[in-house]
Amino acid sequence: MVSDPTAEPSAARDKLPDPLLRPFRTSVLEGFSQGGAGRPRESTVFEKLLGMEARWPDIRQSNVLDWLLCPRYFMWKHRFGVEPRHYRRSEALDIGTFFHTYMACHYLGLDEGRAVSVVGAMIEEAIEQELTFEDKGPLVDRLSGLTRSLERGSAMARMMARLFLARFPLHPAYKAVCTELNLRARQTGISQTINGTLDLVLLDTSRNEVWIADHKTCKEPPMDRIRTVAFEPQTAVYPILLQTAIDDGKVPGLDPGTPVVGFTHNVVRKPSIILRTKDSFEEYLERCEDYYEGRGEFEAAKGERTLSPPMLQNWMRITTTTLTTEQQSLLYEVGRACKANPDSARYYRNPGACFKWGKPCAYLPLCEKRDDELPALLAEEYRVTDV
Ligand code: SF4
Repeated sequence: MVSDPTAEPSAARDKLPDPLLRPFRTSVLEGFSQGGAGRPRESTVFEKLLGMEARWPDIRQSNVLDWLLCPRYFMWKHRFGVEPRHYRRSEALDIGTFFHTYMACHYLGLDEGRAVSVVGAMIEEAIEQELTFEDKGPLVDRLSGLTRSLERGSAMARMMARLFLARFPLHPAYKAVCTELNLRARQTGISQTINGTLDLVLLDTSRNEVWIADHKTCKEPPMDRIRTVAFEPQTAVYPILLQTAIDDGKVPGLDPGTPVVGFTHNVVRKPSIILRTKDSFEEYLERCEDYYEGRGEFEAAKGERTLSPPMLQNWMRITTTTLTTEQQSLLYEVGRACKANPDSARYYRNPGACFKWGKPCAYLPLCEKRDDELPALLAEEYRVTDV
């Protein structure tokens, strides 16, 4: 008998046993809550295979996103804390990190000269770290390349922060309470501690209301980037963390009960302008400044920039500091993922994510190997990071 795909769900389908009608994510959760007896027999138990104990990390915005990206990626990175031996942390010091630092220094009341010294210390630390890494190629070449790239990143971030702060100065009624505030809290129904670092906390002194400021650098147009902020994990979690800390009297400068009322997002698009071979870096920086200011060769695109500016500040008032069912469900799932037995059934591979970075995922060599080849590859090519 051929079934009619356009037909209404049949009465027979409605009578299928419940488990078959459960949404996919629910069955993953069920998987997490089962003991060993529920696991498929062919599942690899990584702790045993690798002889390593898995970590129980806190729930953070970054690991929620990594979990959604690929459960196996989450396992390698957050449960076992492994990274490629030749991966350099200094690579992570990109324009975004420097931009955050320049913004933080400004709100802490440091002048630009002091901010440059703070970033300079970060660059020195990255260079010192480079000396500890094994890699191919002469060390002198590597160091000079790295120094040039970090200094250029710093100059670019400094210019972006300066232009942003000139365009969006803090209203006199707003006071910066603190920057880079790290908070941890437990939430009923979520098995792991929730952890977040807030870029900036602002007090609106005219209304006695608290705002959380978040700085973002992005490749896409900021008008597109802010479309997701309303449903990002940090939007759910940070107000809860901050309100709890305020009410417990743990945020100097804020009285218990002062309400957290919303977010402001400071979004800057990284310049997509190519460095021409005929230009020096200083000339390139000037072109980037023209791009942000809509001057010179970028003047003609002013109309388009009104609709899609390269920098914007978005204010979003929240109505509650409790989690919605959707947010609760996601954090519950990640909380279980932070402590479940690491095996191949729970931490399955997502081939759709392997090239998300425009290059192969750092864990692809592990994912493409047979189970029995993993311990040797791990020992040779990967290292375990500090907790
Ligand atoms: S290589 Fe692919 S499957 Fe493996 S961890 Fe990375 S994204 Fe996941």
